Formats: sequence, structure tokens, C-alpha cells
Amino acid sequence: MLGTTAVPAAAEERPRPPDRDPVAVGRGGAVSTVDPDATEAGLRILRSGGNAVDAAVAAAAALGVTEPYSGGFGGGGYFVYYSARDRQVYTLDGRETAPAAMREDSFLENGEPIPFAEAVTSGLSVGAPGTPATWEHALEEWGTVSLRRALRPAIDLADRGFVVDETFRRQTADNAERFADFPATADLFLPGGAPPEVGTVLRNPDLADTYREFARHGTGVLAGGIGADIVRTATAPPVAEDADRTVRPGLLSAEDVAGYEVVERDPTHVEYRGLDVYSMAPSSSGGSTVGEALNILERYQPEDLGPAELQHLTLEASKLSYADRNAYIGDPAYSDVPLETLLSEDFAAQRACRISPDAVLPAPAAPGDVTGGGGCLDGGTPAEEGAEGPSTTHLVTADRWGNVVSYTFSIEQTGGSGIVVPGRGFLLNNELTDFEFEVSETGAGAANLPAPGKRPRSSMAPTIVLEDGRPWLAVGSPGGATIITTVLHVLVDRIDRDMTLPEAVEAPRLSQRNAAATQAEPAFIGTPEQKELSELGHTFSEVPEIGAVAALEFLGRGRIQAVAETERRGGGHAAVLVPGR
Ligand code: GLU
Repeated sequence: MLGTTAVPAAAEERPRPPDRDPVAVGRGGAVSTVDPDATEAGLRILRSGGNAVDAAVAAAAALGVTEPYSGGFGGGGYFVYYSARDRQVYTLDGRETAPAAMREDSFLENGEPIPFAEAVTSGLSVGAPGTPATWEHALEEWGTVSLRRALRPAIDLADRGFVVDETFRRQTADNAERFADFPATADLFLPGGAPPEVGTVLRNPDLADTYREFARHGTGVLAGGIGADIVRTATAPPVAEDADRTVRPGLLSAEDVAGYEVVERDPTHVEYRGLDVYSMAPSSSGGSTVGEALNILERYQPEDLGPAELQHLTLEASKLSYADRNAYIGDPAYSDVPLETLLSEDFAAQRACRISPDAVLPAPAAPGDVTGGGGCLDGGTPAEEGAEGPSTTHLVTADRWGNVVSYTFSIEQTGGSGIVVPGRGFLLNNELTDFEFEVSETGAGAANLPAPGKRPRSSMAPTIVLEDGRPWLAVGSPGGATIITTVLHVLVDRIDRDMTLPEAVEAPRLSQRNAAATQAEPAFIGTPEQKELSELGHTFSEVPEIGAVAALEFLGRGRIQAVAETERRGGGHAAVLVPGR
């Protein structure tokens, strides 16, 4: 098998990524991702007559090359699709599944949870990948091109190489210590023993070969050599001889990997200010938590509120819906998830009555009573600690026929498990660390304990908003549990604060997840709004950056505005098929 090469790019042969553009306006289709090469891959498919689904798969496969630490063949995600022909929103749950051998206590040793960092870099946290089946299923159901054509741009990119940028180098450097402990990972991402320099070209011929095989045989490859290699690598992680690291073996079997099935689910749906907001149902908590917060906010009229008042309500709605998320959401195949109640107007009314206009609800807030009792339960759900990393990736696409895709996918941690499948060019996920390792003292988290074949609870919230039954907006973000708050704030800023979509994406981000302090980006600290909220009793903890949005909006008369980040995560790239106002 060929190794990867990172060579100083000779000026004349250097593959140059297109420039980054945070906003593009035009017609005929649009793509927005965190990466210029991936956006270009999607655009190439649109240009040759493909639809939004084809372009989404092409862009995602390209992200597997250029953003291999955020998502790819070895991971999973959620694909939300608006079909212009049937005027319906469809979703695919391509979340990784736990091995059949996994048990409720698989992350415990001597009755204690294993250290989280050790769970991350392990075979134990590797779930059966759902991304290959997601791409295949999406193309078969709604696409117009073959897997072979959709993967073509990504194969070219992996063969030819891409130019290492600052973000890629930094993410590699952040992971260098653990990558060095796995020879296959080090060969690929630490050429010459160190993170590749900015401006050098990184090729991944092994991944090109994996994609070629996948293009030929579809998910059949998971029952063949590629599947066998995934199982071998997860169950006996190939650690360097001199590595001083506990790497627990995984439980995946050949049947787990070959038998993976993507699930077509109904989307979550709430009406907000006359718009229809569709997002991802459990196993993700994204759609239900964003939806519940919007339902609570719907009870207030934005025109009656000043900016700080609206922000206060948004933070409180976010806090309450997070309490419910932590208490009730898990894989619906394993517990009774009260989705209908959580998204009902009655429940929103019951939750909203806890909010005071001039005081801050103590956190953690208790979850609501979903039995129809109207009261609250005892005991709050502890907030998730720590800053959420910028792992995972999100993309949006639209085409000339009015189809739209909003797709979030991941390998969980930036760099996933840190374990590359030897000779195959992709990292294995560590998505099973999204399970609770044990139930908390308040009993929270039971819905999200590990079990055979179960999907861990996610926060991914790929969202599509319709106006009068036609697509108006698509949005999503990475960022673990902050995904939910990022999507919520972008929607509220765009809809209730009359910001344009680029302004809403640019705005300093907050994340209230049922914790005493709300996380805030530096640009928010010191603003008059922050001071007003602090006087009311809110406290803020500063974090460098939250999320990395990709979004688009239909501006009317066939015009589309595609939007990406300007600064966060090094900036993304938005493009339209035919530029022009
Ligand atoms: N595993 C996370 C989830 O599904 C996403 C990883 C991240 O963005 O940090 O919610």
C-alpha cells in the first residue's frame, strides 16, 4: 500500500484551493461547507447536472479527505433533505451503532467509569460506521448520479492532494501525541514524524483506493476486506511498540459492521412565527431541543421585547429545554422518548411559566413533567462540563429544482479515536463516548446508557425551514452539545432580530446548556447587552469560539444566498452555481 506524502508544493504544480468566500449570492444551486475544496466538489456535481443530494454526498466525501478529523467514512451523521417534487422533508439517521456485545456497564471498571480521555482513544468507543450507508442510501433514494460519480471529485482530491492550511496543521498538532502512538495514523498525518507544514500538499492514496472500492461495491465493502479491517483495527488497535498508553480493545464484530442499517425517520417539526422548522429526531437531541426552545419563545412577541429581554428569554428557554433533553432523549428503539409531548404547545406553556422576566432561573433547572402533571420533577440535570470542541462538520446544498440538503456528520472528537485503519486512509470514530457511562444521582441519563446495537444520543441539528411550504432557510453546525444552541441563536437572530443570515452567522455566540454560567464568545463580553443580562443575574464564561455554521437562504425569485463562517475555524466557503445579484 502506498504511504501518504506531504511534499513542499512546487509553485507550478501546487494544487491551489479556491479562495474562501463567506457569502455568495446567485442562482441555480448553492453549496456551503467549512472547506473550499469540498464546496468546489459539490459545485462540480451541480455544474454537471447533479442535484442537491448528489452534491451533498460529493462535498461530504471531499470533507473526508480535507477535514478527516471532523467526519468521514469511519463515522456517522444525520442527513436532512427537502424534496421539491413531493414537498416533504425526509431524514436519515446514519448514527454509529454500539456493537452487539456492548453492555450497560461496558464503560465501567470496578464499578467506576473509565477515564474519559482513555475512552476517547480506544477501540471500545468505536461504533459501527453509518456514513457509508448514509451516502449510498441518500443517492439511491433521492440522488441522480452513481456513487462512482459522486465520489469522483473526492477521489481526485485524495490522489492529487490538498494544500495544508493553518486549521489542519493546528488540529494535527493538537493530536500529535496520540497520533504518534498509532503507526498507521502517524504515517498518514505526521509525515516525517511531525504535523505537515502549512502550504505543503497532503495526499491520501489509501483513502482514494477505499473510495474507489466503495464506488464499485457500495456498502458491500463493509462485508469484505474494508469491513474486516475496521473490525480488526477496533478490536486490536495497532499501537506502536514503544507507546505508553492504555488503549482498550473494542467489541465490534463483522456482523455489527456489515449489518449496519441507516434509519429513515420523520423529521421533528415545530411552527415558529408562521414558519415550519424541520430538524433531526432522536437518536439526535438536536431537533427536539431546538424545537422545544422555539416553542417556549413562540409564547412571547419579539416586537414587545428589547434585545436583552429577548436574549434573556432565549437563554432561559435553552436552559429548560436542555434539562428535558438530558432527562428524556436517547435512542427511541430502546426507551420511550416522549417526543410528541416535548414538542407540544402545552408542554411549552408548562415550561414557559417557570421563566421570569426579571430574574434568572437557578441552574441546573429540573426537567419538566412529561406525564401531563404540569409540575416539575425533583432534581436538576447536571450541565455538561467544559468547552465543546469544534469537531464534526456541517454542510448545506441546494439545486435548481429547489431541493435542499442540510447534513451534519462526525467522528465525534477532533481526530476521532485517533486510530487510522491501516492501509485504508480513514480514522475510526469514538462516537460511543456520547453514551452516558453511568446514570447520575438524579437518575438522569438512563435513556442514554449503552446497549447492544444502540445509537448514542447526539446533538446534531441539521435544520431546514419552510415558508409557505417552500424552503426558506437551511442551517447547522458542529460543536457537540453547543450545536443546539448555535442553531437556536442563528434562527432567533435571523427571524426575531431581523438580522440578515450573514449577520446572524457572524453574531457573537452564546451557549446556555442548563449550567450556572452561559458560555460566550469574547466579542459578546463587555457589550451593553451582556451588562444588562449580568445585572439581571446571568453569568458568563468566556470561550474562544463556538460552532462553525454553514447555511443558506432563498431570497426569492430563484436567488439563493449561501453563507459560511468568516473567521471561526479558519473560515468556510460558500458558493453558488451562477453568481449574480
Ligand atoms: N458526537 C457529537 C454529537 O453527536 C458531535 C461531536 C462534536 O461536535 O463535538 O453530538
